[in-house]
Amino acid sequence: MQIISDSLRQLTPPPPLNPLISVVIPVYNEEAGLEELFTRLYKALDLMVTELCVRYEVVFVNDGSRDHSAALLAAQFDKRPESTKVVLFNGNFGQHMAIMAGFSYAKGDFIVTLDADLQNPPEEISKIVKQMLDGHDYVGTIRVARKDSHFRRYASKAMNQLRDRITKITMTDQGCMMRGYNRRIVNLMKKSKELNTFIPALGFTYSSNPIEIEINHEERFAGESKYSFYQLIRLNFDLVTGFSVLPLQAFSLIGILLALASATLFIYLIIRRFLIGAEVEGVFTLFALNFFLLGVILFGLGLLGEYVGRIYQQVRKRPRYVVMGVLESDAKE
Ligand code: UDP
Ligand code: MG
Repeated sequence: MQIISDSLRQLTPPPPLNPLISVVIPVYNEEAGLEELFTRLYKALDLMVTELCVRYEVVFVNDGSRDHSAALLAAQFDKRPESTKVVLFNGNFGQHMAIMAGFSYAKGDFIVTLDADLQNPPEEISKIVKQMLDGHDYVGTIRVARKDSHFRRYASKAMNQLRDRITKITMTDQGCMMRGYNRRIVNLMKKSKELNTFIPALGFTYSSNPIEIEINHEERFAGESKYSFYQLIRLNFDLVTGFSVLPLQAFSLIGILLALASATLFIYLIIRRFLIGAEVEGVFTLFALNFFLLGVILFGLGLLGEYVGRIYQQVRKRPRYVVMGVLESDAKE
């Protein structure tokens, strides 16, 4: 394995002279924090240019914002047309699809993704770029002193552990979207036509020389998280929402609740039975057991529905996102 990865490393071409770094940023209703993002981002990138001898472009993808984000992005494009691209979606297709679209328009040798809410400090971009210049094709990140709610931190820890057990992907902090990918990995991700993607994991599967580094994490600068509790569940199960598969999906949720409720009842009745004795000849224990099994069956059905739903969406081959327009300068590099 070591020999293979060493030879793969040798296959990785040396970084081009003066490489182009593309910074891809999905934007959804972020008007309150965008000005601050522009100020910090371009300052950090200008600094990086002198420090690391690289060039840069920023690709913003407006994911169907209903506030003034699109207008602010257009104004920023007017200010820095030579290094800014703005992709405008026709609706809200989700963060991961927005990043995918960003990949399609990014021309860079190395591509860095980050959130628009300043939770990923733009000043950390150069750290990631340094690792890529050193030959790493995938730069993962670990958020130090993560500034999110307790619930989010615990939930994502649990999901991390679950993913660790059920997949071959080794990643310390899957939720952090600030990452670096080289051109080869981005090209492979563009070729992957699945409708439900979790970009950090997808990129990792194509990497041959990955590395993880620690980066800072900040509080959201303004506005609120764009993920509701429900959306977080869906994202974590790597599934996409759609009205056509919703009835099937509802099954799995009902199933979980039923299974939990009846498991509790079952445990209570078992304890009661040993302490006090059987009630009505143990009929209720039987009921509890029945309900529990019913819950499990419904959960299984729902799970099956999740897979069938995904296959259904895949065979329809609908476009993954619809672009309304793109702001880019036609100046050739
Ligand atoms: N985002 C997006 N489309 C969505 C939801 C979010 O483009 O449907 C963007 C959002 O503008 C931000 C990033 O994805 O730049 C991460 O979103 P958020 O900060 O709300 O997620 P959290 O940090 O709470 O996980
Ligand atoms: Mg955030």
